[in-house]
Amino acid sequence: MLERIRIVLIGTSHPGNIGATARAMHNMALSDLALVAPRCEPITADSVSRASGADHLVHGARVVDTLEEAVADCTLVVGASARSRTLPWPMLSPRELGDRLPQELADADARVALVFGREDSGLTNAELQRCHAHVHIPTNPDFSSLNLAAAVQVLAYECRQAWLAGEPAAPVEPDQALATHAELEHYFAHLERTLVAIGFHDPATPRQLMARLRRFTLRARPERMELNILRGILSDTEKLAPPRDE
Ligand code: SAH
Repeated sequence: MLERIRIVLIGTSHPGNIGATARAMHNMALSDLALVAPRCEPITADSVSRASGADHLVHGARVVDTLEEAVADCTLVVGASARSRTLPWPMLSPRELGDRLPQELADADARVALVFGREDSGLTNAELQRCHAHVHIPTNPDFSSLNLAAAVQVLAYECRQAWLAGEPAAPVEPDQALATHAELEHYFAHLERTLVAIGFHDPATPRQLMARLRRFTLRARPERMELNILRGILSDTEKLAPPRDE
């Protein structure tokens, strides 16, 4: 179970935090680290020293340009956030996240990503809206932001506790595979295209429409098969859409 939990760090600016994250992960036997557009050199004397023996995770980290690439194959994406944002999103406590993991990872193809933001500005709204849920570590409200690696440590600990508890998860029917992040993103792009084509959605005055549709769809946890049906409906709708003026 633990090898199918990915820690994703976006736009990290301090190599020491990457090293300390590797250490926090290896302490809890997590091993899958992805770095999205790091704003520093990931492998430095500082990161290796802060990893104190877990530097193989720093060396083995996958470095990619976008969040999409980092989580394309994941069936559950959870964003760690120090504060609440404009559009409320399903929230989990670290314990609730841990409690969900055995069932989420019961299918051998399932993968979970825990996404962490930049030291200075956290995660953007667009990044948070690509997550199924958000997790907030209940800190002092007057001083809520943890150091990045400390936040990773808290969630990695909950992952390990869930694994140690060894709750048997109900088996998943093969035809009930959940859609991956990449499949969901293709669906959202197709949905937006179609809504523009039929004149329902005007990207110039978005009024949070796509964000609300994202929240609704992600909350429903669609299976791959269900998403295929919806995309079939969109394709037929596109054919009926009036031709647009160029
Ligand atoms: N100053 C930033 C926070 C940066 S801390 C802000 O205000 O958003 C770097 C990252 O650590 C955050 O993006 C988040 O992923 C994680 N983090 C820090 N404190 C957290 C908390 N209390 N709960 C959940 N994640 C937290």
